[in-house]
Amino acid sequence: MKPTCRFCAAALTVSFVDLGMSPLCESYIEAAQLGCMEPFYPLHALVCDRCWLVQLQEFVAPADIFTEYAYFSSYSDSWVAHARRYVEKMCAQYGIGPKSLVVEIASNDGYLLQHFVERGVPVLGVEPAANVAQVAAGKGIHSEVLFFGRETAARIALQHGNADLLLGNNVLAHVPDLNDFVSGMKLLLAPGGMITMEFPHLERLIQENQFDTIYHEHFSYFSFVTAERVFASHGIRLFDVEELPTHGGSLRIYGCHAEDRTKPTTERAGALRSRELRRGFESVAFYAGFADGVTEVKRALLEFLIDARRAGKTVVGYGAPGKGNTLLNYCGIRTDFLDYTVDRNPYKQGKYTPGTHIPIHEPERIQATHPDYILILPWNLRDEIVSQMAFVREWGGRFVVPIPKVAVL
Ligand SMILES: [Zn+2]
Repeated sequence: MKPTCRFCAAALTVSFVDLGMSPLCESYIEAAQLGCMEPFYPLHALVCDRCWLVQLQEFVAPADIFTEYAYFSSYSDSWVAHARRYVEKMCAQYGIGPKSLVVEIASNDGYLLQHFVERGVPVLGVEPAANVAQVAAGKGIHSEVLFFGRETAARIALQHGNADLLLGNNVLAHVPDLNDFVSGMKLLLAPGGMITMEFPHLERLIQENQFDTIYHEHFSYFSFVTAERVFASHGIRLFDVEELPTHGGSLRIYGCHAEDRTKPTTERAGALRSRELRRGFESVAFYAGFADGVTEVKRALLEFLIDARRAGKTVVGYGAPGKGNTLLNYCGIRTDFLDYTVDRNPYKQGKYTPGTHIPIHEPERIQATHPDYILILPWNLRDEIVSQMAFVREWGGRFVVPIPKVAVL
């Protein structure tokens, strides 16, 4: 069957980047599973030449990925602080208060809604993973354990009422049926209500070679112009947008009912749209150059690793994030290059990276083994990690980042 666009149903014929075959990036391997077969799926991103949505085909149902999830948002201090600042802004600038209803889609462990609860604002979480929703319940946050869509949105509206603020961070990319999801948002949004969503910005992905943020759990990659088109087709107007530094560069979009006259479209929304159009986001040629930058990162990283290992240096990893697994599998980096990696998340410690089988230890291992080089896999947190791990300088240890280009710090 020929692939078709998940938004506009046009045939997908234009390649964005082909990263070969890869396992699911969150399927960490237990020691007992090391001898077993692992499923690999194509990791080939395509771009639709009608609506310009960059996308992966759906090879794995979301039910197999997200119902028992290993990612707890509250493990990241900087992300929780980001959520708190957002809540302050919504209350101060947009009048969200005790009479509003705030609904968050993919509310995870309540990392964000807890800040509304502290201010006495009624909240409802929507979260498909029961294990993380349970953690939110401990913070006094009720979650509906389900996948969001048109049908479930109607049920929520009936039970809890319409949302004055409907938000979702880092969820839009994970949605296989985009039209069903966005039409559900339209349905749940109260008249005069507001939507905010955050997602990584395709412009930054392209400019900074962030190919490792492409993995099977991320079905779609959005520019502002494409996001506008998707929401507009469901009666939602994006009236404002902010560019944020999170996750390597994200957008926060602000949406309202298309007919809502109380929220005029801001200048910065118009400015971002013009910038993207000027850069060629609606031309095939613009997307064609990306793959060359990706292969160049691979060659440069392998060159560095080969030289270091030939010179007898030790190299280890820091972090075992989803994006690290795309990088390791695409570049073919196993224990021939990295002795091990470390991660702060206890769920991952003692396991192995999917496909490449690099052991994951607790961060203290670095202090005990004094490696010469530490490859930072969650490069979006590089400043945080370099300052936390400054002690590696005592034995002459150096940090390496792979993206936007290979650099020794
Ligand atoms: Zn399309």
